Amino acid sequence: MTPLQVLTDFFGYSKFRGSQEAVITAMLQGKDSIALMPTGAGKSVCYQVPAMVLSGLTLVISPLIALMKDQVDALNGLGIPATFINSTQSVSEQRFISEQVLQGKVKLLYVAPERLFSGSNGWMGFLKKANLCLVAVDEAHCVSQWGHDFRPEYLKIGLLREAFPDIPFLALTATADPQTRRDIAEKLALRNPQWFISSFDRPNISYQVALRSDAFQKLTGFLSGRSEDSGIIYCLSRKSVEETAEKLAALGFSALPYHAGLDKEVRDRHQELFIKDEVKIMVATIAFGMGIDKSNVRFVVHMNMPQSIESYYQETGRAGRDGLPSEALLFYSYGDSVTLTRMIENAENPEYVNVAKAKLAKMVQFCQLSSCRRRFLLTYFGEKPSEDCGNCDVCFRAGKQLDATIPAQMFLSTVVRLGESFGMGYVILVLRGSASAKIQEAHKSLSVFGIGKGQTEDHWKKLGNSLVREGYLISAGDPYPVLSLSPLAWEKLKSKEKIQLALESDEFRKGLVGEESYDKGLFEKLKNLRFSLARKLGVPPYLVFSDATLVEMAVHYPQDSSAFRMIHGVGQLKAERFGDDFLRVIRNYVVENQLKPKRTITVSVKKSGRSVPADTVYQTLKLFERGMDAEGIAVERGLSPRTVEGHLVELVEQGKIPVGSFLTVDEMEEILGEHRKQESGFLKPLKEFFGDKYSYFDLRLAVAHHTYSKRTLE
Ligand code: ADP
Ligand code: ZN
Repeated sequence: MTPLQVLTDFFGYSKFRGSQEAVITAMLQGKDSIALMPTGAGKSVCYQVPAMVLSGLTLVISPLIALMKDQVDALNGLGIPATFINSTQSVSEQRFISEQVLQGKVKLLYVAPERLFSGSNGWMGFLKKANLCLVAVDEAHCVSQWGHDFRPEYLKIGLLREAFPDIPFLALTATADPQTRRDIAEKLALRNPQWFISSFDRPNISYQVALRSDAFQKLTGFLSGRSEDSGIIYCLSRKSVEETAEKLAALGFSALPYHAGLDKEVRDRHQELFIKDEVKIMVATIAFGMGIDKSNVRFVVHMNMPQSIESYYQETGRAGRDGLPSEALLFYSYGDSVTLTRMIENAENPEYVNVAKAKLAKMVQFCQLSSCRRRFLLTYFGEKPSEDCGNCDVCFRAGKQLDATIPAQMFLSTVVRLGESFGMGYVILVLRGSASAKIQEAHKSLSVFGIGKGQTEDHWKKLGNSLVREGYLISAGDPYPVLSLSPLAWEKLKSKEKIQLALESDEFRKGLVGEESYDKGLFEKLKNLRFSLARKLGVPPYLVFSDATLVEMAVHYPQDSSAFRMIHGVGQLKAERFGDDFLRVIRNYVVENQLKPKRTITVSVKKSGRSVPADTVYQTLKLFERGMDAEGIAVERGLSPRTVEGHLVELVEQGKIPVGSFLTVDEMEEILGEHRKQESGFLKPLKEFFGDKYSYFDLRLAVAHHTYSKRTLE
């Protein structure tokens, strides 16, 4: 089998990412290599694929016993024969595994370094008999005393290198200061290793730093917009872990504590619940996270400043391994640097003190930046980014893409139409045109009813919270706070001035579109199915399919097994195991929602996906989401503006683009008011009535939105 065949048949991916292919080629040519890649870049594939191409055994040395089982389970789930040996197993279990290995039934064997070199030299002899063809050293930075997780046993790996001179070694790490890099090559005794250094950029992670005053309140504000998301909150001490977890749980958040002071049993249970998505938030000391490989962690919060950029980067890197937008939020106060300095100065080794202080100084500098944070991070790791990222708090504040005028108008208008006498929850129900029995009959005929249907409840909550925070909305009254407009808001509405919000959320930063182009309803259904399958199998949900894979299903609506197999992340075995269940849900969903066949598009959104000819409407959507208007799209695609407008109208009618991207609430109301009056349903009389005030495009948009909200209400 070729490497690419292995990647597609077993992993279900169509292309190699970044330097994966180059690393694999080096392995197949028998060259020692060092791969430096950020977390989430896909290091494992670099040795898992050659393991399947080569004949013989691949040995994977990894310090993380907890991770081994997950990795092995994941590989077995893909149909790859892998196993591990560690101290948690009984002697007879270990013997059984050794036999399997010697019989050539295992392609990948995971082992901890202490195991490898413990006791007699039996292991070397065993490996000699085992037809070893490749050795992968994971977390290779552990060999360096400079790093933060030095493991003395790693120093012995050099012996292994000498014992197997003809077998290629691959060292992998996500940590990479220059000293550590030197150590890896030297201490592992690699032979003239080839270096593969990937960019450390994690473009899907958005970096934000906030002052620690009122941190808890800021935290709950942040979390309340993310009730469906998994995340980790790091605290400095066990006590603050406990307190924070308790307070969050008392407020109804799904949160549990994790720190070394808890009984092992409790810790394991909490971790398990988190990994299985049964608990959303893990409040933890930094001890947590090393050993977990959960791809759908959507946010990482640091309640205190870490000691170095390396630690910060590694910890925040636990977010968004699936490549979907994720957030890193850090609370900073000057007091942190004082405390940390004191801690460092207590150490005995003066050389260490100096290095650690220098690292801390960089971390403080990061927190106090008034320029792009990602740029700083990447520069720190030796890269030369050419521009600001547009995806960190500094960039947001710099006025890039901060315009929230239209969604804010929708929100404020709804508050006004409701007589300024309802709370946030009700306002959002009305905005989203909820079918809830709570909605008063009279409110169903308001022009704003359902105008915000295209967005999730969380989205509107975040927006509402920002409007309160920024002084546009006043929330007052106990115990049921009611929203009203501040004078500032009235002024903005009257003057039609832009409303700029210091947005903390990815979602509204992009306006009302962006990542919203997948079918949320279907996504939820698929997640439920994944959850129950995972439960039945006793595995974490992401081992069934990653979030990214489900999102892709919710974009393409695959309805037969060949279309299903085209989805990114669906390999042969998983297609066989889970295909029927997922296809059933998708087909039912398509039928129930009377989706037209043209919505079942077969094109990949992923940059790394296959390029199947794209549906034309879908291409327009993608360009629109990048911020182009109809004219721009027409030029870009060489189509007439009319055609593109037609696409946009269709997309509004499908609910894929909110009408608010084109029309204000007042305009909508005016057009639809007349539309209702005329009853004819034809555009021409409507156009005649308004004359030049509205274009045909405006009118069609308004009507399309009307159709959409009617359909979704039924
Ligand atoms: P790392 O060890 O570098 O943190 P992983 O090996 O855990 O990263 O991979 C991160 C994620 O990316 C995993 O979900 C993995 O399946 C996925 N992945 C790896 N290679 C590819 C690829 N070529 N195409 C798509 N997804 C990939
Ligand atoms: Zn930036």
